[in-house]
Amino acid sequence: MNYECVQGDISKQKDIEAIVNAANARLQSGGGVAGAIHRQAGPELAKAGQELAPIEPGQAVITNAFNLPNDYVIHCLGPVYGRDEPADQLLADCYRNALDLTEKHKIESIAFPAISTGAFGFPFEQATDIALNSLAEHVSKLSHLKTIRFVLFSDEDYQHYQNALAKTL
Ligand code: ADP
Repeated sequence: MNYECVQGDISKQKDIEAIVNAANARLQSGGGVAGAIHRQAGPELAKAGQELAPIEPGQAVITNAFNLPNDYVIHCLGPVYGRDEPADQLLADCYRNALDLTEKHKIESIAFPAISTGAFGFPFEQATDIALNSLAEHVSKLSHLKTIRFVLFSDEDYQHYQNALAKTL
């Protein structure tokens, strides 16, 4: 597996087949990642979301990417920290379920944001460890995926991810 880490905007990853949305249960636009993705994708993404919503914490569903430069959006509902329990397990499930969808759809590249670490309040360092460990546990079963990219919004988050990546994967 090729792991990459970049600082930037998840909705601007032109060379990636599937991008992951830090979704809300209704699969509609919102702040942060969901807002950026829905703005770029256009209103059809929210319509596609209506057909599949609501989803549960830990779940992942896939749609077209419409006006985004990607082929698919994989929508993951992360746990709201302090409300959805067990939070660690539900966050790990998001990453595992996203990987399962890449296998099902023969996807070769995926980009993840740091799910649950914005509005949903998950402590960033803990969320990073859970994400990387969950991916490490499940990638060996995959036969299509070649690249996993992490897209971090702030320089601080990017630095942290790079260090954690070097240690874990
Ligand atoms: P959640 O509701 O799952 O917490 P958010 O979208 O609020 O999701 O935030 C998740 C993480 O994504 C946060 O670390 C936030 O800083 C970051 N983020 C916000 N906007 C973007 C973007 N356009 N691209 C990549 N990461 C983003």
